[in-house]
Amino acid sequence: MSKRVLITGGAGFLGSHLCERFLKEGYRVICMDNLSTGRSENIEHLIGNENFQFIKYDVTEYVHVSGDLDLILHFASPASPIDYLEMPIQTLKVGSLGTHKVLGLAKAKNARFLLASTSEVYGDPLIHPQHEEYWGNVNPIGARGVYDEAKRFAEAMTMAYHRFHGVETRIVRIFNTYGPRMRLDDGRALPTFMWQALKGKDITVFGDGSQTRSFCYVDDLIEGIYRLSQSDYVEPVNIGNASEISILDFAKEVIELTGSKSKIIFKDLPEDDPKIRQPDTTKAKEILGWNAQVDRKDGLKKTLDYFKNLSNQ
Ligand code: UDP
Repeated sequence: MSKRVLITGGAGFLGSHLCERFLKEGYRVICMDNLSTGRSENIEHLIGNENFQFIKYDVTEYVHVSGDLDLILHFASPASPIDYLEMPIQTLKVGSLGTHKVLGLAKAKNARFLLASTSEVYGDPLIHPQHEEYWGNVNPIGARGVYDEAKRFAEAMTMAYHRFHGVETRIVRIFNTYGPRMRLDDGRALPTFMWQALKGKDITVFGDGSQTRSFCYVDDLIEGIYRLSQSDYVEPVNIGNASEISILDFAKEVIELTGSKSKIIFKDLPEDDPKIRQPDTTKAKEILGWNAQVDRKDGLKKTLDYFKNLSNQ
């Protein structure tokens, strides 16, 4: 019998790419999502595949899955700043109660568990680039705290299930990732800028745009997660592209790529917006033999094609 994987948040941007990848690797895939930020369009092409099953469910409730499970990828959570500001309590609940429920399921099924964590655990970082041993600089009561602290709690809970119950656990810290199936309205810089550029609207740079991010193409991220899921490494591993750019330069890059006539305008910087972010991916290289392969220019072109299609619909 082929292996069976449960992917929570499987109808989201990353979750849906994971569903595809694990089907390709020969797994039977159960995708669980309450569709609060995930979308059925992301997985509709998989419906009808005999190895794919979709369950609409909120993992903050007791989770039951019948039959064996070999692996659980816990990706359920609002994940863009706008989403978690609109759903602060749900974000805290899915990171805490949801992670607890899904770890309980992993223990009951004797399944390996992989947690989707985030570069947000480093908060507004005081070291650069961020390596996994850094404990972070997070404001627990700030607007972003609902996401950051939920994910920090989720990491603590994951390690406790590993140490106390012997569950096989993995933790990936995901840095900014982009690609097809990002939601246009998730408020993140990349889809917002692309959409604004395509529509000839003003590009909204927050603050003076000197804050930096490092954008990873989704295929690279999925490869890193797949490798981590097959490895025996328990401590957190950063996955992200180390090529860093300021948000202002990034806005200019999008304008150039789209050939848009949009102007850049400046708006207030959101509370606790990290000033710098770049992954140290030494561990991913050493442990997983992983390196980001897709250059930002190439990845942006592919993503632009996706958004162009959407804008023609
Ligand atoms: N940002 C921006 N304009 C927008 C949306 C975001 O200038 O319309 C900025 C945001 O303040 C942050 C950076 O772009 O500094 C990346 O934001 P995003 O929401 O994509 O992800 P984050 O890394 O902050 O979670």
